[in-house]
Amino acid sequence: MNILQVYKFPHPLLKLKSRLVTRFDGRLKQLAQDMLTTMYKERGVGLAAVQVGKPQRLLVMDLTNDLPREQGSTLRREPRIYVNPELLHTEGEITTREGCLSVEGYTTDIRRASRVIVRYQDTGGRLMKETLEGLAAVCLQHEMDHLEGRLFIDRLSPVKSRMVKKRLSRQARPA
Ligand SMILES: [Zn+2]
Repeated sequence: MNILQVYKFPHPLLKLKSRLVTRFDGRLKQLAQDMLTTMYKERGVGLAAVQVGKPQRLLVMDLTNDLPREQGSTLRREPRIYVNPELLHTEGEITTREGCLSVEGYTTDIRRASRVIVRYQDTGGRLMKETLEGLAAVCLQHEMDHLEGRLFIDRLSPVKSRMVKKRLSRQARPA
């Protein structure tokens, strides 16, 4: 289990479109596990491979990571791994407050589909299909945006997006 470095805005890597995963080998499984470990440590609910410097169509999620955890409690984790995800269907609307491990110190309301059907592969390359609703659907869409090189702050109005990015870039600059 390795903790990976999470790339932060405005790192140019985050703008890359991730490539399809074609090798379903031990390295892919290891990367997915390391991403989960990293996400748990950073208290995120989702992480795309490009955020740890690997522009591949791989993402992990665990919505339980957001729940309050008492010291020493053994809340069961629910890790999910999606390889080459593709939305087959979207419907409804939901607005939630989003943040991102690659965008420090900023959250904002984003509107997305409230129900999605996703086709993906597991780390063994098997084709899977799943329906996600509510926060799970939101999280998946947020992570899938990363695969296209898009951040949640790219979904704001152009004026607001520019403003927020300017501020974040200023904060990111080393003193
Ligand atoms: Zn994110």
